[in-house]
Amino acid sequence: MNPLTIDIRRLQREIDELASITEAEPPVVTRVLFSGADLRGREFVKKLCREAGLTLRADAVGNIFARWEGANEKLPPVATGSHIDAIPNAGKYDGVVGVLGAIEAIRALKKSGHRPQRAIELIVFTAEEPTRFGIGCVGSRLLSGVLAPQKAAALRDRDGKSLDELRRDAGYTGSLDSVRLPKNCYAAFVELHIEQGPILEWENTAIGIVEKIAAPSTLRMELTGVGGHAGGTLMPGRRDALLAGAEIALAVERAVTGSGSPDTVGTTGVFRIEPGAVNSVPCRALLEIDVRDTKVATRDAALVQIETAAVEICQRRGVVLETDRLNVDPPAVCDAALVETTADICRHLGVSHRKMISRAYHDTLFMAQICSCTMIFIPCRGGVSHRPDEFTSPEQIETGVHILAQTLAQAAG
Ligand SMILES: [Zn+2]
Repeated sequence: MNPLTIDIRRLQREIDELASITEAEPPVVTRVLFSGADLRGREFVKKLCREAGLTLRADAVGNIFARWEGANEKLPPVATGSHIDAIPNAGKYDGVVGVLGAIEAIRALKKSGHRPQRAIELIVFTAEEPTRFGIGCVGSRLLSGVLAPQKAAALRDRDGKSLDELRRDAGYTGSLDSVRLPKNCYAAFVELHIEQGPILEWENTAIGIVEKIAAPSTLRMELTGVGGHAGGTLMPGRRDALLAGAEIALAVERAVTGSGSPDTVGTTGVFRIEPGAVNSVPCRALLEIDVRDTKVATRDAALVQIETAAVEICQRRGVVLETDRLNVDPPAVCDAALVETTADICRHLGVSHRKMISRAYHDTLFMAQICSCTMIFIPCRGGVSHRPDEFTSPEQIETGVHILAQTLAQAAG
């Protein structure tokens, strides 16, 4: 095998071109699942896969698989991949580095004359971001069996459109029952991703190798109070849904800061009120609350504390509360041997690296349910992500793609 050369200029051009496929004004990237931009982005990625000589297929929820056949088709393949959907007002590297970077890793391996024993398969996951349905990683949840097909089919977006309608409109028509993959259908899964945190940059370290992914959970609370004229409704006896919601948001902060674990974090990221007029008492509030921790026990204790507080607050304020646990997921523990393989590759190449915890969750969290996994993190400037000024340098990407390529080559034999 000749030495690996990553064509970083071509890869950077492709990252820039995908970033121009957006629902927003560039440089802002917005690519919500099954929007026009998402569908055009998928076509762009598929074109690159075809040009790289990969065999394409898609499953019923729109997960895309691009395969480089191995010498021994009896062996389970090695997989890599990430997502190209982007939240509103995002940047161009989150997810994309793991998709386009994987294509470049495969191209580089091919060019070097490498011939893997196992097939190497790129997966572009559907809806890693929770924007459309309030739940993230829809594609990998279905693949791993964490989300039941009937539950997925019934997911609805803000306009009342179901996942089932939307995926069919996008051309993914099979039965959702067919999406789930058997355990150990892949020998390994490795996802390249920007860190979305500041640690690698602080420490001036090129590569983070993920050992564990923090356990996420999402609560949705619908509060129904009583509206009325802002002038005519006197203060005693008001049943203001916004004020109940505001108290709940503060209770979230109290629960996570008092959990006893420094890793517990809680965010009330959605807070919508109706009718939303300055002269009207808010009659309805919708809150979506994200709570995470590396430990299940402290995360779950915080969830219970938040739910208990919400019940008390709403009772006291005469507001009707409906709580839904959208997801309560376990943490993922990465495969120690795979982590060591990647660490050895870094050592061998003289690339600075450290093992770390991912506090953001990724499709790997769910792939870990069916096969050995790890993630390769590269730094991003200031730890900034989910913003248009998200930035990772071409050199940092090149190093990440190099380590990914070597890890895939080793895992594929
Ligand atoms: Zn991502």
